[in-house]
Amino acid sequence: MATNNASPELMIVMAGASTPDQTEHVVARLREAGADARVTRGREATVIGAIGEREALAGLPLEAYPGVERVLPILKPYKLVGRELAPDPTVIDVRGRKIGDSYFGLIAGPCTVEYREQTLETARAVAAAGATMLRGGAFKPRTSPYTFQGLGLDALEVLREASEETGLPIVTELLDPRHVEEVVEVADVIQIGARNMQNFLLLAEVGRIDKPVLLKRGPSASVEELLMAAEYVAKEGNERIILCERGIKTFERSMRYTLDLGSVAVLKEETHLPVIVDPSHAAGRRALVLPLARAAAAVGADGIIVEAHPRPEEALCDGPQQLPTAEFGEFAREVGEYVALMGKQIG
Ligand code: PEP
Ligand code: MN
Repeated sequence: MATNNASPELMIVMAGASTPDQTEHVVARLREAGADARVTRGREATVIGAIGEREALAGLPLEAYPGVERVLPILKPYKLVGRELAPDPTVIDVRGRKIGDSYFGLIAGPCTVEYREQTLETARAVAAAGATMLRGGAFKPRTSPYTFQGLGLDALEVLREASEETGLPIVTELLDPRHVEEVVEVADVIQIGARNMQNFLLLAEVGRIDKPVLLKRGPSASVEELLMAAEYVAKEGNERIILCERGIKTFERSMRYTLDLGSVAVLKEETHLPVIVDPSHAAGRRALVLPLARAAAAVGADGIIVEAHPRPEEALCDGPQQLPTAEFGEFAREVGEYVALMGKQIG
């Protein structure tokens, strides 16, 4: 087996006319040499990522094996989430709702589960407007320890009920590895919040579960750091990762954060993973959420995650940026026009 810190070093591109047996043969030789292998069957070619010690790989006559077209080094530091090894876009299926490639995810819901009716009302409204998943925080990472920290485990029960009633898959944040079992039981997508983007133990934890992960960019993290954080998840075996641009800290004070839409275009070049945008936390105020959401669709994002509340003025968290549920239908319709312009459909 590959040692713990071995990384994919080489990609072995199989010829168009190669057979599955030839791929298996290469994989078997790699394993004998103490390396590991990940096979990606893409639209264009089958590629084997060879994971292991450089010396062990160097001893193999890889180019001479039948069916091998060429052997190339993987140059980027993000090996599994990069496009080198897997050039085709990944589509993530969350209980039939798709995100990635031509599918645009419309994730909406309250910032926080405050009480049952608030969450159910929101869930019904966003479901009726065509949202594809329901968001809602049970555990809230708040700047101040004196503000509402979320209902915790009780919120998970409310989310379960909202999902059962509307059929929407649930996206909710995992803040503490000690809650992984409870959260995984209810959540269809595990959110890792911006503040935890480089919590490497938490990343490894969600790398070992069998649910997609929504990984938010840290407010002070570079695009490369985001990709390396995703690599921590993928390395443990979970490659169903959705990246999320949610605004970064700059000198600009007119919005809560600066939404770095350029990062979406860069990420689409660099990774096969779906990339979505959170216009709500970036903007910090609701008037900006629609224009930023339209821009996200236009720049090529694979979805958005948006906050909505039946009575935002009463919200316990992030009231100024939450869309009133009464306006969510019109919001979804307008974003949908841009999604269609990009040749995509709301998944
Ligand atoms: C959230 O989406 O609930 C949230 C807390 O966002 P972020 O981690 O991006 O601040
Ligand atoms: Mn919020």
